Amino acid sequence: MKSPLLVLALCCLGASPVAAATLVRDGKPQGEFVLADPPAPAEQYAVDDVCHWIEQITGAQVPVLTTASEQKNVKVFVGASFAGEFVDDLKKLAGNDGFAVRRRGENVYVFGSRPRGTLYGLYSLLEKNTDLIFARPHEEFGTVFGKTPNLELTETDFIDIPVFLNRRFGPNWPRHRPTGEWLLRNRDNTRDVRANYEGFLELDLIEPYGTNFAHPIAGHEEDHPEYFGYNPITRSRRFVKHGEGTMCLSVPGLPAIWAKGLADDVAKHEARWGRKVDQVRLGPGDNWFCCQCEKCLAPITLPDGTRRECQDPDSIKDPQFRSTQVFQFINEAMPTWQKLRPDTPLHVLAYIHFAEPPLVPVHPDLGVWFAPYPTSNLHFPLLDPRQPEPWRRRFAQWLKMNDRLGFYEYFESKPSPDGFYLAANLREVMALPDHRNAMIYAEMSNDRDRDGIGEGEYGWDIGLMNHWVEARLFWDPTQDVDALYHYYIRRTYREAAPQMLQYYAMIRDSWQDPENKTFSACHASISGVYKGLIIDQGLEKKCLSILTEAEAAAKHPHSKVMIRRMRAQYEEFGQDLARLIVADVPELRGESSDFDSLQWEKPSVSGDFRLTSRAGKSEEAGPATSIQAARDGETLVLRFRLDDPHPAEREALAPVAGKEIWPQGDHVEFWVYSGGQEYLFAFNANGAQYDAKELDRSWDSGWKLKVRPTAAGWEAIATLPLSTFRLEPGAKTSVEWFAAREIRHAGGEAVQVSYQGLPLHYRKFPIIVE
Ligand SMILES: [Zn+2]
Repeated sequence: MKSPLLVLALCCLGASPVAAATLVRDGKPQGEFVLADPPAPAEQYAVDDVCHWIEQITGAQVPVLTTASEQKNVKVFVGASFAGEFVDDLKKLAGNDGFAVRRRGENVYVFGSRPRGTLYGLYSLLEKNTDLIFARPHEEFGTVFGKTPNLELTETDFIDIPVFLNRRFGPNWPRHRPTGEWLLRNRDNTRDVRANYEGFLELDLIEPYGTNFAHPIAGHEEDHPEYFGYNPITRSRRFVKHGEGTMCLSVPGLPAIWAKGLADDVAKHEARWGRKVDQVRLGPGDNWFCCQCEKCLAPITLPDGTRRECQDPDSIKDPQFRSTQVFQFINEAMPTWQKLRPDTPLHVLAYIHFAEPPLVPVHPDLGVWFAPYPTSNLHFPLLDPRQPEPWRRRFAQWLKMNDRLGFYEYFESKPSPDGFYLAANLREVMALPDHRNAMIYAEMSNDRDRDGIGEGEYGWDIGLMNHWVEARLFWDPTQDVDALYHYYIRRTYREAAPQMLQYYAMIRDSWQDPENKTFSACHASISGVYKGLIIDQGLEKKCLSILTEAEAAAKHPHSKVMIRRMRAQYEEFGQDLARLIVADVPELRGESSDFDSLQWEKPSVSGDFRLTSRAGKSEEAGPATSIQAARDGETLVLRFRLDDPHPAEREALAPVAGKEIWPQGDHVEFWVYSGGQEYLFAFNANGAQYDAKELDRSWDSGWKLKVRPTAAGWEAIATLPLSTFRLEPGAKTSVEWFAAREIRHAGGEAVQVSYQGLPLHYRKFPIIVE
């Protein structure tokens, strides 16, 4: 049997004017890698890694030397120190981490202008001359390659320069070596000190220092409490705690003091890690609180002399007022900062209230790092008319305000082909004059356990293609997105590529169908996107059968296992769409009973309520009903949205003080089944509430209820002690739920609505606590 690698090599030969350089023949090395003496750690690391994979492919251990041998063989010279004759290439590579590969006779040269450029060049040499792909980080099956005793270097003449100089997927925390290695092999170039591994610290990577906006003044709590944000409700200052805090932005001279504090913090980081910091990243943290002292709430005078009143002290309600204050403060701090650290650029994370473009110009030497969080829709490019506000407007404004505009995105695993969204946004940014120095960043989960909001390796089972394509687009977003997916599929799935290309075409066409309006965002559940992409389009059967065929066609064991795992996840989604996921949203703490808290964007929405049918699964949707669940410390918080087209005619019991009466008429029932017992919580739009255990209403859970009318009907937030149901975070529970609703209007017949349209006690659905 011909090996795929040999076929690939023969095909390439036709295009190449020079004979291939044979690195391995019949499982024996025919050449060597030559490193500088002493080698740069990044070059040593990459050569060792590449040689490891060559050995896996061919069985040969290709020697790695620091002095070239006398042998007449193929020599791969590694690093800029051997590349002196390639003047034009070095000129093009100066100041970036691109790479070139060149051939002179039997000598091959791999180099960048700096060690990490050479590192990417070595991986590219490996990729272009074998059929290997680092498909995902998973240690057991994430890398796919064919075995062959021969390795010919046929692709030895290319140069590749990245569009963006700051590329990072993170946080890769808690540290996970395989994910960190995968990132390096796929051209990620920034360190995260929390995620370092032995050896990675020495590599030539960008050293960032990231901090919360208020952190540089931490330590002044006692001598200058007035530096910190004032809370009029507690009549106290909010100091920096757990890395987060708030400043009073109206203290005269504070910007300079702050800049000095920041420079000191950076110096401390440098002393601790023994590396110079290349860039500083500032952000608000997960923190909406802003100083509410009299001065900070006074109108702001804008450069044109007009005054901007504070419309609401709450930054959620008036983010523009606060972001204007913030950027005025940073602009004023810039001269001090630039005097202390002239070579260290600042990037401001435009997140939470910082995401709103301010009413003042942004200092020209600042980079803005835009986080369309948490409500942008990953389904459409940010400037697409279908993109929900405020994100389209904000992005358009930032594009006009900052020449170094970058992204902080959330590419948690989803089955939808998200590369198209990314490429469109990055191409917009590329039009800016200083885009090379923009910060290009996205969060994603490590390929292990169920870590993070991307669900760890379970998420990777679904989102593997996206992550790889996204990494390539971070390097160069002008690449053909469709072609990148095709390339990935051919290398990863090999004999099963025809089926997997069919699968890909199906999800791409479904996602790009103008009728498909599925919402996707970082906190949108993976199964919810699958529902909108596949189930709601009537594609579930087709999808699962293509994957079954693909698994049968796959020959490479790693391809097979990756297809099998994708299929298994999709099957589970189909079965479990009815699970109620209790989201762990720490930011919701203290605001869970606030209907207007933006944190309610995070928990996934279970909205599959339909008209109840005794005949089994109902197809008819009634007035919209949905439920969200979250954890707030020790309590379970449930939010119900209950549309009602005729609220004025509603027939519902009024609560009677001191009496617990069944809320007959228009009401909602939420059932919980735990430990062989059943619990019932019933309530209505008037705030009448009723709870019972095993139908005994004398039982009292101590739950709380808040209701309010809305334009569409009404809504409710119920707060229940978690301990009532033996619900424990992370633990596998057997707790289940069901919900039903009666809509009753004066003079009309009652309408019954329930989850999936099922009658009471017909089915119970699982509750999962994050
Ligand atoms: Zn203040």
